[in-house]
Amino acid sequence: MSLAVTLLGTGSPMPSPDRAGPATLISAGEDDAAEHYLVDAGRGVLMRLAATGLGAPNLTAVLITHLHSDHITDLNDVVTTRWVMTFEETPLTIVGPVGTRKVVDHILASLEPDIEYRIAHHEDLDHRPPVNVIEVTSGVVELPAGQGGNVAITCAQTDHKPVEPSVGFRFDFQGASVVAAGDTVPCDGLDALCDGADAVVHTVIRKDIIANIPMQRLQDTLDYHSSPEEAAQTAAKAGMSTLILTHYVPPMPQGGTEDDWRALAAEHFGGTIELGDDLHRVDIPSHQQNESSR
Ligand SMILES: [Zn+2]
Ligand SMILES: [Zn+2]
Repeated sequence: MSLAVTLLGTGSPMPSPDRAGPATLISAGEDDAAEHYLVDAGRGVLMRLAATGLGAPNLTAVLITHLHSDHITDLNDVVTTRWVMTFEETPLTIVGPVGTRKVVDHILASLEPDIEYRIAHHEDLDHRPPVNVIEVTSGVVELPAGQGGNVAITCAQTDHKPVEPSVGFRFDFQGASVVAAGDTVPCDGLDALCDGADAVVHTVIRKDIIANIPMQRLQDTLDYHSSPEEAAQTAAKAGMSTLILTHYVPPMPQGGTEDDWRALAAEHFGGTIELGDDLHRVDIPSHQQNESSR
């Protein structure tokens, strides 16, 4: 299968015993030639990545949709584990909105004692974590030479105000394409990114449930997230074949069954609706192949 999505973490800021924090793996190609892109790095991301048989050294790049803590809380773990588990200098590229460089600089500063301990202790470890940050706003995402190359990545501004800036990413590989929307309300930037793509991975919250919980701090989250219905409308408008929902608030099963969530989206979208537990995998077939095999 050419392009695949694995929901590494389907949780949210609310801790859940069986849902890791927001993180999605986009894999393209086969075996040693495969490229693996990690979108967001929430709580427990490397545990879930290990369950797929991969580790931090296998990541082609990390892409951050926005700097909310639940989406970056384990980025430090990715940085450190990549550094200590690779045996020659292997830069980790981190792509994110403006502000990402400052956050990564502070993560590295917080790791400073650890970096010094390990360099002092391991004779063969003679370099600091090689991290390469690329801040993006919209358009083509260019990775450094030798990293990736088979997947075309583009990005666009999304709308998660007052969290600004926030971006979504689109991955095109051999006639298949998927968008990672991140946290956003429906917006023109996301529509443009989704136009002509096959699938979108969209974070969602059950607004119908949250609106009835008398807790202001929860109600505050209503205005900058999409509901399953809104995510479905975005997928329908773009003519996509697959909608992949993640970031379940409230977490299932307390927040309803998978069928409940799917039914809400199905009111607005006639394609395939995917959701599930952590490690749920969705293969995105090439539409070029489909067309030529007809
Ligand atoms: Zn957010
Ligand atoms: Zn979030």
